[in-house]
Amino acid sequence: MAESRLVFTHARLFDGEGPVREDVAVVVEGNRIAAVHEAAPAAGDGDRVIDCTGMTLMPGMVQSHFHTGFGPTPSGGIAPSLGLEASAPFMGIIAASNARIALDCGVTSIIGSSNPGGLDLALKEAITLGVVDGPRVLACTSEFMTTGEQADGDNRSWFMQLGNKGLVRSMTGADAFRHATREEVGRGCNVVKISVARGHGSAAAWDVNYLTADELDAVVSTAHERGALVRAHCPSRIGVIECARAGVDIIDHADRIDEEGIEAVLAADATVVPSMLWSERFLQFADSWDHSQAPFPISEGIPETLDQTLARLAAVREDYEYTQTMLPKMREAGVRLVLGDDYGFPMMPHGDYVSEMEVYAGQGVPIDEILQWATRNGAQAMKMGDTLGTVVEGKLADLALIAGDPTTDLNALRTGVRMVVKDGNVVRDHL
Ligand SMILES: [Zn+2]
Repeated sequence: MAESRLVFTHARLFDGEGPVREDVAVVVEGNRIAAVHEAAPAAGDGDRVIDCTGMTLMPGMVQSHFHTGFGPTPSGGIAPSLGLEASAPFMGIIAASNARIALDCGVTSIIGSSNPGGLDLALKEAITLGVVDGPRVLACTSEFMTTGEQADGDNRSWFMQLGNKGLVRSMTGADAFRHATREEVGRGCNVVKISVARGHGSAAAWDVNYLTADELDAVVSTAHERGALVRAHCPSRIGVIECARAGVDIIDHADRIDEEGIEAVLAADATVVPSMLWSERFLQFADSWDHSQAPFPISEGIPETLDQTLARLAAVREDYEYTQTMLPKMREAGVRLVLGDDYGFPMMPHGDYVSEMEVYAGQGVPIDEILQWATRNGAQAMKMGDTLGTVVEGKLADLALIAGDPTTDLNALRTGVRMVVKDGNVVRDHL
């Protein structure tokens, strides 16, 4: 029995690479893109024909830094809570909600970042079983970090005995990193997250790589031999260089990347997630704060004087201004950049993904390039570039149909999602 097909006709097509083509037809058969035509093909019995006049067809998007368990948060400026105060069942509900929100936005794939209690795995499995709907999930581990670093739950909050139950998992020595990687990848995680330096959140980057070469190599070799990727919270200059050389696949934040780091990232074919929306929002909030009235509420958890707070905020600003000077250099050099940020933090609601794109547009990045980051580059970061991320015959059918033209007006992505197709299935239909 012939399967019914989806036949998109008269579409403006952004295929993930560009240039934009007008009046294109795309045929989806099963879970694949069966054809991309310049003219409308003959429709068969049972085909669903979708007239895309006035709309743009594009690949489903990839959110490449996705914290399933963060949020929702009340408006206002409380410090990031990371969900650790909530029960595991509640966080599972949050994760399902975040997945649904992402799909609503035309996001058909997510690359997990750190999460507590196996949330990503639970979400991935629930989506696979059809219990909840959501994007393709590359499930991430908890955040592996060296003992005693600033986010080590056994450090600042040692008396609460949060230990390894929460978002972070602290350890010392190559064997410990190897063990943790084996354990969490063994449970089904696709991505291992490590934290290699302080910075990017609410404090300046330190020029360190907390992991020894042994520890770094233990994570990367163990993950890779089991088919998993490695991503690093990596705001530091030296961290970028050493992570890229060690084979880390995804460099998060890269606030202090320099020319040597760019070379190392290119040589390693690694991906960078610049995640500049958080920095924008954090600094806007810092600017708006009346420090004479109350202490600034986002801190590293360490008591500080007003002078220390102001110095910390100034140092964060300096990092961000530096990163802005490096963005064009990364682009010019051909670094693979992708979208994704710490959504679910205060001031960063899940679903507000277009705002990150607008930050890059404000930095002079052409919109079609930003959309490449969101689609083709994201699929490449997933190591699925051969099967996903562009609208090409034979690839998996992950598509978003947008009213208007997001290639000239990013706001169309905010208001105009009309249909989302994942793996050939219509998962959102507002036509
Ligand atoms: Zn993050």
